[in-house]
Amino acid sequence: MSNEHPEFLWWNGEMRKWDDATVHVTDLGWSTVGAVFEGIRGYWNSDNQELYIFRLAEHLDRLAASTKLVRLALPYSREELTSVIAELVRLNGVQEDAYIRPLAYNANTSGKRFAQIGNESSLLINTHAMPSHLGTELTHTAKISSWMRISDNVMPPRVKNLSNYRNGQLAGFEARLDGYDTAFLLNAQGKVSEAPGACVMLMRDGKLITPDGTSSILESITRDALMILAREVLGVEVIERPVDRTELYLADEVFTCGTAAEITPVVNIDKYEIGTGQIGPVTRELGRVFEDVLRGREERFAHWRTRVESKQLATV
Ligand code: PMP
Repeated sequence: MSNEHPEFLWWNGEMRKWDDATVHVTDLGWSTVGAVFEGIRGYWNSDNQELYIFRLAEHLDRLAASTKLVRLALPYSREELTSVIAELVRLNGVQEDAYIRPLAYNANTSGKRFAQIGNESSLLINTHAMPSHLGTELTHTAKISSWMRISDNVMPPRVKNLSNYRNGQLAGFEARLDGYDTAFLLNAQGKVSEAPGACVMLMRDGKLITPDGTSSILESITRDALMILAREVLGVEVIERPVDRTELYLADEVFTCGTAAEITPVVNIDKYEIGTGQIGPVTRELGRVFEDVLRGREERFAHWRTRVESKQLATV
């Protein structure tokens, strides 16, 4: 894979060379306001020379849920898309940690796309390198955003609609301009929802707490995996419930989680030091277990991995 872009992407049923996959400039505009996507990671295991795609089936099911909610057609099955993604990764000769992004959007170019229900759609699948930061000492500071998280009756955050990301972007811009790394958004009920592009977890009194599924959050696949790993591997009690902002300030440990965020410890929020101000022990241990699962060193969760063997890499 070149550093700039992959050699191939998959677009509407075909593998295309990067340079051949273009749209006309007049297609800019309404085409992506209703678009939905997935963010999927593949982890490279250099010992086994294999790429492990994490929870691909769950990501494809969520893509189907997203398209259903925004009334876009998705004329491919989970099985078809699984093969397409494996083939694309092979064609691009991916031998590093990678991000895989399917994007479904309204392909009708009649000029009346605002009002139209998308029974026609296009699907693009793109890959690029995305190194993991697990096992590094990366930490974030955060602020509670002055922007409110969108809610289910406004723009449902449950699914990955591109437009939803404007909300998190505004919060992220504000946080960075104010000197923080990231933000936590409160929902319409004034409870903690999520960070831009990531869910939130906190440790308090030995329990792992995370905003519940009706707290204006994306139905995060990482959050689900970490709840399972915390319970089943670390033996930590996990509670899903509405969370107050002051619970974050008083927590022993806080971290964000998601496909891109993986596990990112948050050590300071609104200038309140979280716990000792260092990466907490549960955050660290969960990160270790999670990385073992992602890289194929933990057999118990092998069903979460789609394996793409390097010997299947095609030379084109
Ligand atoms: N919330 C938002 C808004 C996100 O964009 C993401 C990243 N997809 C997450 C949470 C985490 O979700 P997942 O673990 O499925 O990547």
